Amino acid sequence: MARAPFEIAGTRVAPGSRQRIELPIAKLYTHAPLNVPVEVIHGRRPGPVLLVCGAIHGDEINSVEIVRRLLRSSALNRLRGTLIAVPIVNVFGFVQHSRYLPDRRDLNRCFPGSESGSLGSRMAALLREEIVDKATHIIDLHTGAIHRTNLPQIRAQLEHSETTRAMAEAFGAPVILNAELREGSLREYAQRKGVPVLTYEAGEALRFDEWAIVSGTRGVLRVMRLLEMLPASRGGHKIPASEVSKGSSWARAPIDGILRPRVKLGARVVKGQRLGAVAGPFGAEEQDVIAAADGIVIGMNNLPLANEGEALFHIARFAEMDEAESAVEYFHSTLEEP
Ligand SMILES: [Zn+2]
Repeated sequence: MARAPFEIAGTRVAPGSRQRIELPIAKLYTHAPLNVPVEVIHGRRPGPVLLVCGAIHGDEINSVEIVRRLLRSSALNRLRGTLIAVPIVNVFGFVQHSRYLPDRRDLNRCFPGSESGSLGSRMAALLREEIVDKATHIIDLHTGAIHRTNLPQIRAQLEHSETTRAMAEAFGAPVILNAELREGSLREYAQRKGVPVLTYEAGEALRFDEWAIVSGTRGVLRVMRLLEMLPASRGGHKIPASEVSKGSSWARAPIDGILRPRVKLGARVVKGQRLGAVAGPFGAEEQDVIAAADGIVIGMNNLPLANEGEALFHIARFAEMDEAESAVEYFHSTLEEP
């Protein structure tokens, strides 16, 4: 029996073909229609339906570039199953350089949404119906918030399923956080339905970060090989080691002032270490930012201005610190290859 076409918003994509679809999501105040661009690659042979989406937070543009590079990968010519690629989910925020929707709601807190709700709720409901509910597996691409950068990391609820854990490991980011579900997020919605979901966090909002983009693109392809959507690469593809964190916390500004960081993203730090100093403009009052535990710096604030209590350095703790450090080192070395 021939494989059925794949359908989104009334457009049918035949097996063995790829197609761009404009999903009408909302209208501007001017009444001009606003679409979410989607590309579907429907393989000739059956298999998983993987949704890869970016910029659900509209300013997280590394994710848009990851989807672009993924779609240009020649490996997709041999796709088994179906890839739904959505480079820009929050089209409003993307145009405005903003994480949020025009009403300042966070689209990633609006799921499952409702057809009679406000803008975010309606968008979530339409995305759910036309796209998310058709996926058997999901990779949701993110970056740090504005002025915050993240070491490439996977966030997932590892106990959700064997597949979730296997996908998290196959992605090959140096760090995995066994993260709680945020209410109203795409990840929460899909996972409660039983769909394995990874969130990839890397780099900074409104910036391109080549490490984040390369490791994100490679990570998605590795997960697709794990799911047998793509053939295993000749000679086998080495998956970089990932280390699962046993928890994380932020080191915060002890006083208001100007921050001078002393550590870099990915650094291994020990309890009591000076991570940076915050001082007034003349430097008379100065206090150190101190690491509360041994760990790896997996996120940091790039804006040198801080109010007391501002989150500055995100430190992940590990049972095996040496292994975590070597996962980060190995990760860096793989990205230096031509
Ligand atoms: Zn985000």
